Amino acid sequence: MTITIKALAADERGSCPEELSFGAVFSDHMFTQEYTKGTGWQNAEIAPFHNIVLNPAAPVLHYGQEIFEGLKAYRRADGGVNLFRPEENFKRFNRSAERMSMPAVDEDFHLDVLKQWVSIDQNWVPSVSESSFYIRPAMIATGAKLGLSAADSYLHFIIGGPVGPYFSEGFNPVSVYVSDTCRRAVVGGIGEAKTGGNYAASLHLSEEVAKQGYTQVLWLDAIEGRYVEEVGAMNIFFVYEGKTLVTPELSGSILAGITRDSVLKLAPTLGFDVREERLDINEVLADIESGKITEVFGCGTAAVISPVGKLCLKGKEYIVNNFESGPVSTSLYDELTGIQYGTREDKFGWVVSL
Ligand SMILES: *Cc1c(COP(=O)(O)O)cnc(C)c1O
Repeated sequence: MTITIKALAADERGSCPEELSFGAVFSDHMFTQEYTKGTGWQNAEIAPFHNIVLNPAAPVLHYGQEIFEGLKAYRRADGGVNLFRPEENFKRFNRSAERMSMPAVDEDFHLDVLKQWVSIDQNWVPSVSESSFYIRPAMIATGAKLGLSAADSYLHFIIGGPVGPYFSEGFNPVSVYVSDTCRRAVVGGIGEAKTGGNYAASLHLSEEVAKQGYTQVLWLDAIEGRYVEEVGAMNIFFVYEGKTLVTPELSGSILAGITRDSVLKLAPTLGFDVREERLDINEVLADIESGKITEVFGCGTAAVISPVGKLCLKGKEYIVNNFESGPVSTSLYDELTGIQYGTREDKFGWVVSL
């Protein structure tokens, strides 16, 4: 499929601001393509960033038929740009699409589009340390249909912009509230899909506990309220005795993070053992208290590795590693970001350089 390119002239383009927050500033261009039942995908276009027009009866606005992805482009020291495992994001996009009864996007085409668009907007990929260019592909159900069934038309778009560290804490420990009331996702539901409803459902408690100083909510399984699932929109790891990394096994309600997968593959090359298993929150908290668990960290594209310094369940606080970033989190953070920015060897062939 051909891509129509309507690029701005050099003197019409903006530039990367010096102060970077997360997800508030967007680059000059965006990608869009439209799908109609019967015709398939068409009108692929890279054009100046613009608002989208929707019929008020568009299914995305009423029934939440939508999916998204999140990946980053990183500025290398030699001025080039790296993408990190982008094909994994496009595979997951299609898995989410299937779960939400939406059409698949050709994965090779998706990568091709991404490369072309990032090349056009590459002056927006910041070079300040710990900054990157956050990329947000999404698909929404369009058209006009209030009857409840899968939509007949869709819009797929990609936007992006320069970002600084995800948490204002940077690579410093965050405080986590363990929810004993709200649940994020249930097996058989849509927790495995990157779809808006999961995040809308998480806001209520997240907002509530933010007032008490908790940056993230740790979600337990929805059936027994006992097994650890995820922390915020990140996967979670527990480090036992400075040596063994344990993360909840993919249960059907956990989002399969690409950072999670990368940690599972990288950790053994750094001398750590890894395990995926069901983790009972009561055992985890007891092991934090006894000091058997030496570190806890969340991981995801946005924050990379985010040390957890404190967990709170039912009013009781459990401090991890004196509320400091530990050596295992630090070495994983250094190794992962080193590969992403091209300063460390990419043994697994994860980087796609532009
Ligand atoms: C995106 C996401 C993650 C992390 O996935 P990555 O591919 O590592 O960025 C984890 N949990 C949830 C709920 C997510 O939405």
